[in-house]
Amino acid sequence: MKSKQQIYQKIKQQCEDANATLVVVSKFQPIEKIKYLYDLGQRDFGENRVQDLLDKKDQLPSDIRWHVIGTLQRNKVKYIAPFVHLIHSIDTLELLEEVHKQALKNHRQIPVLLQVHIAQEESKHGFTIDEIQNVLTQNLPHEYPQAPLRGMMGMATYTDDQHQINQEFQKLYTLYHAASKTFPLDTLSMGMSSDYELALANHSTMIRVGSLIFDDLE
Ligand SMILES: *Cc1c(COP(=O)(O)O)cnc(C)c1O
Repeated sequence: MKSKQQIYQKIKQQCEDANATLVVVSKFQPIEKIKYLYDLGQRDFGENRVQDLLDKKDQLPSDIRWHVIGTLQRNKVKYIAPFVHLIHSIDTLELLEEVHKQALKNHRQIPVLLQVHIAQEESKHGFTIDEIQNVLTQNLPHEYPQAPLRGMMGMATYTDDQHQINQEFQKLYTLYHAASKTFPLDTLSMGMSSDYELALANHSTMIRVGSLIFDDLE
């Protein structure tokens, strides 16, 4: 088993050096592999489907911090509201409002990130930069105190063009940095298997890495 965690350990160290949090994206992965990483000390895991998250949560230790990173339907929020650690993928105000409501019902706060559309692909979700600026200047997050805004999440275009990825991360950091002057933000979630190093170089505070880590555990 010794050689089997080299990439995980390397990324973990890079995060420590950059003062960033590593969220291991466990979507489509078997329980045994998740448990293996848990036993190495990993506690932050991310899933993009509510049903998969609930199934896995039942089979794994209760001190895992579960992150929702994928498109979230409003009618599913109630299932994760009792325990979810952070929702990265708030892409409409209606969803934000629902998270606030469900948090109230559960007598807790559910921290959230606004997902920002920085990529060129139409298929990716999120607010445009203009929309985010509107949301923030109208101080809308203050209307949902049970769903405190902690920062932003973005995904760069899937491309080999490092220059373009770099520009997209820079754009998101600039937006985040400006918003930090009005809101107490501490989380900039950007960077995946293919681009996490570039994200860390652009002041990411949280990376979401899946395939790179799990492929190494084969
Ligand atoms: C799948 C996914 C990731 C992780 O992707 P990898 O390329 O496997 O590291 C990160 N963020 C989101 C939103 C995802 O859906």
